[in-house]
Amino acid sequence: EAKMILLDGKETAAEIRAEIREEVDALEGKFGRKPGLAVVLVGEDPASQVYVRNKERACEDCGIKSIPYRLESASQHELEGLIQELNRDVNVDGILVQLPLPKGLDSQKILDLIDPDKDVDGFHPVNVGKMSLGLPGFKPCTPAGVINLLQRYDIDPACKKAVVIGRSNIVGKPLAMMLSQSGPCANATVTLCHSRTADLKAECLEADFIFAAIGMPNFVTADMVKEGAVVVDVGINRTDEGLAGDCDFEGLKDKVHAITPVPGGVGPMTIAQLMVNTLEAFKLHVGA
Ligand code: NDP
Repeated sequence: EAKMILLDGKETAAEIRAEIREEVDALEGKFGRKPGLAVVLVGEDPASQVYVRNKERACEDCGIKSIPYRLESASQHELEGLIQELNRDVNVDGILVQLPLPKGLDSQKILDLIDPDKDVDGFHPVNVGKMSLGLPGFKPCTPAGVINLLQRYDIDPACKKAVVIGRSNIVGKPLAMMLSQSGPCANATVTLCHSRTADLKAECLEADFIFAAIGMPNFVTADMVKEGAVVVDVGINRTDEGLAGDCDFEGLKDKVHAITPVPGGVGPMTIAQLMVNTLEAFKLHVGA
């Protein structure tokens, strides 16, 4: 029996960060500065604080200068002012606004204000549009990180049936789009499922690849998954027993060809992709 492949995002992300570090050091010698990532956090959401800390740590690892803006609170006007300032700042290559923003702030309006050339999260409508047209631009970090992880393990969804569960703008929808496009590690036949899908189990049982981005602990169970499928678990759910993915890892691990753990799967890849995007932004700005 073939051995199950654990898609180790933690280790893969560390490799990517080391590669970025090398490139950053070389570019710093040539252009006289490091890439700069402005990290904007408003409010005190504990999960957001953890994410921001992890992103700043990754920057340090990569030789990227993180420029923190931790605001206890901010008005829409103040936050818009800050974004405009960061857009003008030549030492800022990437701007990251940690979501969700506190209630009362219009996040779409804030995201729309970010210079698309500094939009390392890939949420600006210009970059979303470019992605949907298959044009180069910043891609959202979670789906791009997922593709990158598969690529590093030489697991190619081309010509396969893929089911994406979840249609959010930050994960499911862009992931479905990226998987269905032509290009490396893509060319899948994609079904995008959501809470109004009539028979999710039947869709999943058809799938060679399942990507779960739902937000419900252990939602995808062994009876829903075809023998030998590849399962990518994007979910990060806080439960009384600790962090849980959207997939029942224990139940699935003996049935699948490959699967991501939670934690240590897609999470670290998302952050690594942010570093990739920031390096890209830097190269764009210095003309490397
Ligand atoms: P959203 O809540 O925005 O979207 C969830 C999606 O799941 C929706 O499209 C919803 O359908 C669908 N859904 C909900 N219930 C069901 C159901 N019973 N059957 C089928 N589909 C269902 O979540 P996100 O996309 O933002 O995040 C998803 C998960 O991924 C979360 O656990 C989140 O924490 C995690 N995450 C992890 C990241 C990482 O770095 N690893 C990054 C971002 C998110 P509908 O649209 O019909 O409501």
